[in-house]
Amino acid sequence: MWQDCDQWLKDHQEEMIQSLQELVRVQSVSTPCEKDDEPFGPAIAQAFYKIIELAQDLDLEVRNLDGYDVLVDLGDSGELWGALSHADIVPAGKGWSVPPFTAERKDGKVFGRGTEDDKGPLVAVLYAMAAIKACRMPIKNRFRHIIGGAEETDFRCIHYFKEHMPKEEIPVGGFSPDAAFPLIFAEKGILHFTLRKKWEKDTESDLILMRLSGGERVNMVPSSAEAVFGVTEAGRAYLEEAYFKYADREALLWEEGGGEITIRAKGQNAHACKPDFGVNAIALLMNFLSHLAFRPKAAQEACLALSQFAQGAFTGEGFGIACRDEVSGALTITGNTIAGDGHGLQISYDMRWPVTIPLTEIWPKIEQKAQEAGFTVQQDSQKNPLYLAKDSHLVATLLKVYGDYMGIADPQPIATGGGTYCRALPGFAAFGPVFEGRAELAHQTDEYMGEEEILQLAQIYARAIYALIGV
Ligand SMILES: [Zn+2]
Repeated sequence: MWQDCDQWLKDHQEEMIQSLQELVRVQSVSTPCEKDDEPFGPAIAQAFYKIIELAQDLDLEVRNLDGYDVLVDLGDSGELWGALSHADIVPAGKGWSVPPFTAERKDGKVFGRGTEDDKGPLVAVLYAMAAIKACRMPIKNRFRHIIGGAEETDFRCIHYFKEHMPKEEIPVGGFSPDAAFPLIFAEKGILHFTLRKKWEKDTESDLILMRLSGGERVNMVPSSAEAVFGVTEAGRAYLEEAYFKYADREALLWEEGGGEITIRAKGQNAHACKPDFGVNAIALLMNFLSHLAFRPKAAQEACLALSQFAQGAFTGEGFGIACRDEVSGALTITGNTIAGDGHGLQISYDMRWPVTIPLTEIWPKIEQKAQEAGFTVQQDSQKNPLYLAKDSHLVATLLKVYGDYMGIADPQPIATGGGTYCRALPGFAAFGPVFEGRAELAHQTDEYMGEEEILQLAQIYARAIYALIGV
């Protein structure tokens, strides 16, 4: 049954690659709104224009949803299913061995920012839809490919879609070709929160904590953190002794100048969804500070509490919230940015909690521990967990498609601490594009899409679409 469709896609492989190249050449990083119909700036508008042109060439129905999304439709009756991809990219960054926006072809690959995330998959889904139409495969349902313009920033594209579409125009479910195969069926909840504490400035004592800093982003385990002390002669001697006695001194650097001493902790960066790949420099620093007596007293107490909160590294033991579930594994929590001065400090945490455990069982414990230690607590942002049962229609259908195509007997879906686009639309699961065993290059240098790979993606996505809407 797939012979014609596969052949159609094979015949259009070169065209598919060229469509991807054209799209990669548009540097579609979203920028602040300049016009009403360009809410994500001119580069996204330009990418949308190209996509609309391509969809028209492929004889698909397409429209621009006020500059927020492009909608490409197949079929005109029945249940509505969908795909969710995005046309925006993150900036290229430095260190590429090929130019990031010329879409160079080399060794059977197309290189460039966005080739894997998410323009290659986006093009593959468009051609998959076109193949089903061109081969006149009988369908009983509708399919809508939603292509957003703000996945890499604030998801306003998909929020706009949800808010401006009547209910029957929102797909009941579908897939997002924006993560990995076989399929992601569980994504932990993500909570970002901040603890704050204030104190009176002290100028009289021998050893005074003047400043604290560390971390770059709340979702990244920090590689560096520092504490700056103002010292008298006596204070300096005390700090020096404590420093040389400290068991884990390897992780610390001592710097001195202008009557101040800086203790810098060196860790290792990692994404907060994989804290075991990193070493948290803020936790290292707090551990050292917890062995010291310094002023202001409230600052010392705060640092002691923070080192206790970091007990068990990233397991949440220190907050009394360590937990795990069968589906998605253990809770993780990391304090990833800190800033402090003579008057107080604030520290922001990234917590990822298991999909089957309600946040209401976890949050009160954090609140209580923090308040007991004199901190105020504020939730900054929250993304609820995503969890689709393994035997649900969507998960079972897509896994079968993937398994059959790849010749894998029983592909197992993935649980992750990361967040995909799917959280934005209920009933959606991330499905590809990264094949098992292939390095994931989203947001990395020398990102590429294989020329054979894009054909395979289109063939898999055609099967997935047809499994959802075919007769
Ligand atoms: Zn993406």
